[in-house]
Amino acid sequence: MTSTQPTCVLCGMDDSQAPLVRFQYQGQTYWICTKDFPTLIHRPQMLAGKLPGAERITPGEHDH
Ligand SMILES: [Zn+2]
Repeated sequence: MTSTQPTCVLCGMDDSQAPLVRFQYQGQTYWICTKDFPTLIHRPQMLAGKLPGAERITPGEHDH
């Protein structure tokens, strides 16, 4: 990581293209856009390869 420009961990958009939400994971700071934020919550295994151990994150409950 040489850039200080926050970009979405999933799609790579920066904050000029989409609102970015910052989150902490395993001591690192990551950014994710609002479009991909539900993916982080409900389908975190989609971030495998982007986040270390993402396939082991427990998806959030959803009851709709
Ligand atoms: Zn994104």
